[in-house]
Amino acid sequence: MRDRFIIAIDGPSGAGKSTAARLLAKRLGYVYVDTGALYRAVAWKVKEKNIDINNEVMLNNMCDATDIKIRLIDGEQKVYVDGTDVSSFIRTPEIGMMSSSVSSVSCVRKRLLELQRQFGKDGGAVIEGRDISTVVFPDADFKFFLNASIEERGRRRYNELKEKGMDVALEDTIVDIKKRDYNDSQRNIAPLCVAEDAVVIDSTGLDAEGVVEKMLKEIKKRQRIFKAGCSMMSFI
Ligand code: C5P
Repeated sequence: MRDRFIIAIDGPSGAGKSTAARLLAKRLGYVYVDTGALYRAVAWKVKEKNIDINNEVMLNNMCDATDIKIRLIDGEQKVYVDGTDVSSFIRTPEIGMMSSSVSSVSCVRKRLLELQRQFGKDGGAVIEGRDISTVVFPDADFKFFLNASIEERGRRRYNELKEKGMDVALEDTIVDIKKRDYNDSQRNIAPLCVAEDAVVIDSTGLDAEGVVEKMLKEIKKRQRIFKAGCSMMSFI
């Protein structure tokens, strides 16, 4: 076990991953990484450049020619594409759906994999996405899979979008989430699934504090078991 852990959080859209991950990172003094923002950044550029996502050669060339950076400013993650801060442009339902499509293309995933691994290489990171526990950091110290009922996930996403001033309907938001869930879990590469060794948390009816409390409890429990195991070993 590392001194400063890698904590992976996966789950479907609207499960509360970002809020819980940000809060957990703050509590532990860790870096917080929202990997969905990277896929959204690629989708944003695809839209800007009017690239056909079915043309893998063009998509590959675009990925090679694109500089994507994320920076943490006052605990908030900012995303830059070729030097432009796209953080607020990537949060629309349209970019959300596009990101789900581009994320099933292998050159995109390959391009973003190394970038994601950079953030966790020294530990001390809470990283959330869809394949963090299974592909990006299969050796993460702690793995959580966050879920919630479709109604609650839809409501949360709808409220988020409304707060940003977007004109959306709850029913459409739920339809979008279902489509994304389907795409993300059925794709051939790195599909959304529960890692064998992940702790599943149902966040229905819980706020971010409640989710983080459950996570911290699990982390402490596993640390105690680990320490007990180490002292047993010293007797052998
Ligand atoms: O988390 P968020 O909703 O911002 O993610 C946008 C999309 O990016 C997801 O629907 C998914 O298709 C993709 N994604 C992924 N792997 C990750 C993170 C996000 O495929 N690790």
